[in-house]
Amino acid sequence: MPVSPENPHKQYARPEFWQLSMRCCQLAGAVDVAFLFIFLMLGSPVLAWVNVISVAMYVYAYRAFSQRRNRLAILLIRTEVLVHAGLGTVLIGWESGFHYFLLMFIPALFVTMRPRGAWTLAACLWAYYVGLDVLMWYIQPLQPISSNALLGVHVFNLTVVFCMFSYLALFYVITVTRAHKSLARMATTDSLTGLFNRRHMIALTEKALERHHRCPSNLTLMLMDIDHFKHINDQYGHDVGDRVLNAVSDLLDSSMREQDYIGRWGGEEFLAILPETDLEQAAAIAERIRKAIQALVIDSDEHKVSVTLSIGITQYRAQEALSNAIARADRALYEGKSAGRNRVEVALA
Ligand code: GH3
Ligand code: MG
Ligand code: MG
Repeated sequence: MPVSPENPHKQYARPEFWQLSMRCCQLAGAVDVAFLFIFLMLGSPVLAWVNVISVAMYVYAYRAFSQRRNRLAILLIRTEVLVHAGLGTVLIGWESGFHYFLLMFIPALFVTMRPRGAWTLAACLWAYYVGLDVLMWYIQPLQPISSNALLGVHVFNLTVVFCMFSYLALFYVITVTRAHKSLARMATTDSLTGLFNRRHMIALTEKALERHHRCPSNLTLMLMDIDHFKHINDQYGHDVGDRVLNAVSDLLDSSMREQDYIGRWGGEEFLAILPETDLEQAAAIAERIRKAIQALVIDSDEHKVSVTLSIGITQYRAQEALSNAIARADRALYEGKSAGRNRVEVALA
């Protein structure tokens, strides 16, 4: 009976939608099996037969989903819900609560369709729902059951609809949260190295500077650049260059402490922010990193590739612009390059 939230107009909906639909098929089929026995016990063979057909439709829809015939599956489910809700209401009355299942179409329509189509179908659904309600004001149920049995069916239907709504709401929250996390990760990290990207590094550094303004302490910037990286690309190819970048990034990332931030600043250039670190401590850290990179051997196909790193470090000065501090670190880095590379250079002036 319950409706699942697929989109017949979008065959490439996310796989989790199809998984959810298949689960809804199983749940709905199980509910209808329960109804089959309930109506047999209540001595209502017509309603029992309706449920036999419903179960068959869900089994068929489930098979269609497994074969990726999603349109057919959705058509079957929609037909089942509309007809079952209508028949249940006309046969045993509005109080049976079968009409509640129709309401489950509303979120499913808006979540999975374009707004225009969803509004149109929601209006049709409203007309069907109200039409059924008005009809039941004028006619008596065709297959009435005892009032106790009616109460039982009513409570059962309400319970199933509550459970299905809660399940769908939870599913949508999980899906949206997952999508949000994945977007946030894409917006803040560099896709090749997995380090923070330049934009996010600027945002993180601005935050660190705000903290620094409120409560000044030592804050050191470290700008690092792989030496002669162009040669690596020229000699071994761009793919090997990428692998080297990855290996260097991993090593840099693992060399940082809990409170430090590191990001890819440009092509083969990295920026690290080291809060509560003076120049002497930063120089020691930089020297350790320089040696570790020098010792790093990257196995790539038949090649063993090694690189070196030049590092420029500077201390952030109270109230100065971030770009100022970075330019100073850059000058130190440039001095290191001029002095032969594979060096740590501290900007003092
Ligand atoms: P220096 O020691 O002066 O830093 O020399 P360099 O060759 O490292 O510097 P240069 O700026 O001349 O070249 C940097 C090279 O990095 C050029 C560019 O093609 C390469 N590069 C930038 N981004 C990527 C990337 O994502 N992957 C690969 N494979 N290469 C990259
Ligand atoms: Mg370089
Ligand atoms: Mg460079």
